[in-house]
Amino acid sequence: MEAGALKTQSAGNLLDLSFDELERVLVADGLRAVHAKPLWRAVHREGATDLAGCAHFPPPLQRWCAEAGWRLEVPPVSADTASSDGLTRKFLLKMEDGQTIETVLMGYTGRHTACVSTQAGCAMGCVFCATGQMGFVRHLRPGEIVAQVLHANRQLAESGTRLRNLVLMGMGEPLHNYDAVMDALEIVSDTRGANIGPSRITISTVGVVPGILRLAEERRPYSLAVSLHGADEQERRALVPASQRWPLADLIEACRHYSSVMEEKIFFGWTLIAGRNDSVETARRVARLLSGIRAHVNLIPLNPTDGFAGTASAENAAYDFQRTLLEAGIPSTIRQRRGIDVAAGCGQLRAERRAKVARN
Ligand code: SF4
Repeated sequence: MEAGALKTQSAGNLLDLSFDELERVLVADGLRAVHAKPLWRAVHREGATDLAGCAHFPPPLQRWCAEAGWRLEVPPVSADTASSDGLTRKFLLKMEDGQTIETVLMGYTGRHTACVSTQAGCAMGCVFCATGQMGFVRHLRPGEIVAQVLHANRQLAESGTRLRNLVLMGMGEPLHNYDAVMDALEIVSDTRGANIGPSRITISTVGVVPGILRLAEERRPYSLAVSLHGADEQERRALVPASQRWPLADLIEACRHYSSVMEEKIFFGWTLIAGRNDSVETARRVARLLSGIRAHVNLIPLNPTDGFAGTASAENAAYDFQRTLLEAGIPSTIRQRRGIDVAAGCGQLRAERRAKVARN
């Protein structure tokens, strides 16, 4: 957020504030700016859930916490499921208006990654995605995105670790909620708090062209992942309806611009659907499409959902696809499907819970 652009002096959720905004709020309320540091540390580094319990605060700050009316929104957990291998945990968090959103915590050797939501529901309508199937409900506020990171860090604190990586691949299209997402990322990458390095943060988009161009124009220091799924307009539109608004040719042009301005690699997501987009010929077309762009393709076998009849590609089809890309000079990784038994595809846990409530 721009300096001097404090949106309101009236009390709200503390998690919506950047460090500079917090300083300005405290100063406007008659405190010294120096009080922002212990408050910020308690909330964003130590994961405090109740400011009344921060007895180590200086007395003026303790009084401010008790009287100023600012609140710390800590969303209650509606569901907490773990995969059978124990490496993936999925949380359904309840927002103040009752909307539920998903946050996934994934463990890898020596590091943890959180996958957070940026909207309740999604307007993009990708046909194989449980969130797309439920439609758009509303944007999340910066503090609601930050709360997911803090929740993940609280879980990890129990084992003495912290989040190292963050991906915005949960419910919603991050670039459709651009300003709130950028505010939230500024907060969670602040070195005095959660301190997730910008290069360890990945924004995943289905191809919102104006958002990609804006990231390049503003030189945002985060990694970019673009979901492709189809190698020509018709193939892509059938899976990603948002392609009608931002056609494939415009998307590729925007990616070319981004990768040359930012001098960064783009991660292209490709959901492998058996018999639909997993042939060697399709891989050749993907390679042609991406030629000249610094690209890495993540091949992700489809996560099954009730609302889409497709199935994941067979292992040998995935390897053939990968080999074809490699022969054309495009590096790729076949991603493990994480947490299938906890409905880890975005929107699946919320959809399952809603279906269960409707059945009962
Ligand atoms: S895949 Fe992402 S962009 Fe597409 S509908 Fe699902 S949440 Fe939205």
